[in-house]
Amino acid sequence: MPDLAANMVQPVGGFPMHNMMMRYSLFIPKLYNWCKTLGFEPGKIMPSRAFCSDESQGYPIIMMAKHFGAFPFNHGRVGGMVATDRHGPHASHGQDMVIIQASHVGYDPESKSFGTYRRLQTSDQSCGPSCGKIFHVIEWYQEEYEFACKNILLQKIDGQDCIVIDNRLLRDDRDDGLLLRLEKLIASDNSGERAPLQSLSTSRVFLAAKSLVDKIGESVFSEQATKISRHLTADLFYFRHNIKPLEEGTHHLEHSLIRYMPQIITSDFPTLTAAQIYTQVEFDLTFRSIVKEQSYKGKKLLFVAGLNIDISPQPGQLFPLTKFVPWAAYLQNPDGSSHTYEQQELFESLEQQDTDNPDQINLEDAIQMMASVKEIRIDIK
Ligand SMILES: [Zn+2]
Repeated sequence: MPDLAANMVQPVGGFPMHNMMMRYSLFIPKLYNWCKTLGFEPGKIMPSRAFCSDESQGYPIIMMAKHFGAFPFNHGRVGGMVATDRHGPHASHGQDMVIIQASHVGYDPESKSFGTYRRLQTSDQSCGPSCGKIFHVIEWYQEEYEFACKNILLQKIDGQDCIVIDNRLLRDDRDDGLLLRLEKLIASDNSGERAPLQSLSTSRVFLAAKSLVDKIGESVFSEQATKISRHLTADLFYFRHNIKPLEEGTHHLEHSLIRYMPQIITSDFPTLTAAQIYTQVEFDLTFRSIVKEQSYKGKKLLFVAGLNIDISPQPGQLFPLTKFVPWAAYLQNPDGSSHTYEQQELFESLEQQDTDNPDQINLEDAIQMMASVKEIRIDIK
């Protein structure tokens, strides 16, 4: 398997959210009006969404249907992955194309924390992880990290700053597990070797690297051994994990996130950081697939990616108060010209738009009309 350590650092790492959020009831009419200013033709736009299958994503879909006047095409897989093999059918269902991709994360306003969402339909209306898919993917990595935090000790021995490392963590021939960047943890001698000062039954004692001591402070090292805990920062390790081969995109999310896992699991809210990074990865991948897609050639297309923040429904509410944080957008014109909007430009383009949408439909009236029209019998021969 490829060694992911070799190319771990990528130009992705979450994105600013402060002053960038907009609630869906404002975001979608602004998006619709922006499309009109860009030359999209009302009544000829086929919206599409690539959201997680989580029911919390229902409200944004309803808002899209209401403001675009058409139920959006389903471009999404669990976690918010874009099913790029569905570009063809989407292209054939409308004249002008709009795609919204969003990974999602729950938010609890009481604890002011990300990663959970209240499930009203559970027997006790309990809170569960959100996004659940992302939560389950990062769980294994968190357990590996917790093991390392507890099984690497810092200690002053004979006046020297030492690091005691569990033997399992020292084996670098593992296909599965957290692997340490030993050169950043252990001091090497004049010949570049990192020989242990002492071999214990299940661990080994080394002289700590000077860069580590400088970073965390000498006072952390005392006669009494202390766990490294959160001093084990993202730059000090990476992961290998035997992820099953890609089958219809099933493990796509984990493949995309593994190289960012050290950053994700050491962040304050791992599911938030993971959702942000996944949005960034999906925008990049999807943008490239759209550019190559023959069925989108000659069409007007706007692809917007961002993060959905689901604030759990409060008593009396049916839906979450979902906020959208834009990340990037790609506009393609029929003549082949195109433009990529970075976050700030995208946010400002949306912000400038009116929230009033005279073209929006009344969903209740539309549903009522379908119930009251004369029935059409299906002729089976
Ligand atoms: Zn989800």
